[in-house]
Amino acid sequence: MATEYIPPPVEGTDATAILHIDLAAVAANWQALCRRAAPGAVAAAVKADAYGLGAARVAPHLHAAGCRHFFAAHLSEAVALRPLLPGAMLAPLNGPPPGSERDHLEHDILPVLGSLDDIDRWTALARSIGRRLPALLHVDTGMHRLGLDKAGLAVLAADPGRLDGLTLRYVLTHLVASEQPDDPVNAAQLERFAAACAVLPPAPRSIANSSGLFLNACFASDLARPGAALYGINPTPGRENPMRLPVRLHARILQVREIAAGDSVGYNATWRAPRPSRIATLGIGYADGWRRALSSGAPSGRVLAAWPASPGFDGPPVPLVGRVSMDLTTCDVTDHPALAPGDWLELMGPRCPPEHLAAACGTNAYEILTSLSPRIARTYSA
Ligand SMILES: *Cc1c(COP(=O)(O)O)cnc(C)c1O
Repeated sequence: MATEYIPPPVEGTDATAILHIDLAAVAANWQALCRRAAPGAVAAAVKADAYGLGAARVAPHLHAAGCRHFFAAHLSEAVALRPLLPGAMLAPLNGPPPGSERDHLEHDILPVLGSLDDIDRWTALARSIGRRLPALLHVDTGMHRLGLDKAGLAVLAADPGRLDGLTLRYVLTHLVASEQPDDPVNAAQLERFAAACAVLPPAPRSIANSSGLFLNACFASDLARPGAALYGINPTPGRENPMRLPVRLHARILQVREIAAGDSVGYNATWRAPRPSRIATLGIGYADGWRRALSSGAPSGRVLAAWPASPGFDGPPVPLVGRVSMDLTTCDVTDHPALAPGDWLELMGPRCPPEHLAAACGTNAYEILTSLSPRIARTYSA
């Protein structure tokens, strides 16, 4: 007997796993961050397909809500989004690949310059076309990953003309440990950034990612660059999540079977039924990004659970049992006699947020969301 929950149809797919994305909740999260960041502005990091939620839907929704600054990681991501974000600043955080200068110009995408070589290529372009070019400048204050390093900064300080032809729209830096408010590296980075900005032409500054907005007000700057918090990831780990979770992951029951006490389920028989049991098989597996580390009997020792997706359900959770395989996951529905093939279970949502899944497989919530594969259908509400 099917429960009353019927998920929205996903046209053109036979999807057995669906990620529901509440665009209104994403916009509400952005607005909440805007209140924290004021009077500074708040950009949206929409790299990696908006952390798996679907940048082609998320970015225009934020644009409609008033967001005018967007960060991708790759140039190709920015190019794909450009027509959807008229008038907005759009910049790829990974920096400009050599030879991509004309592509940036053609698509109105601003480079995030992170080395003297990047700077020299842009000033050369500005000279060759005879006009000033807007750009962002990334300064490394401790991440030691991307951005202008100490030596590069010293060269610029000694030769400010090296930036001639560029208009710095923002100077940015990225925090190493913003989710750990007590880490002294946060304050050290602020100091290094202030020192760097003092030798650069005056320009608006961009510092905070999601968690940076929950440090003190000095970190907010002229433009914050949150990603995670927009998508419901807790920017204040260990404390209550101030954001709304805009994602729910549902998987469909393909079959239900009765097994005897002592029967095993799944590859390598990692789980055996302690009593006569009903096993439901869901159409989601590790090829969907539902990680194999979420198997029961995994080294973490955790037993994860799903919940019937019917609205208002408040019965016991459904334990996941056995190995997660490529396309399938099994669960114990012995205590849920009404569940039947065609019913949907919720695997991620308010009762099982991305942080729980991340803890169970030894990673962070970012990796959980960005791992969800394109085979999972996406549906949107606004
Ligand atoms: C990904 C990224 C962000 C966004 O970080 P969140 O922790 O997701 O808010 C901001 N700035 C840079 C440079 C990034 O790479």
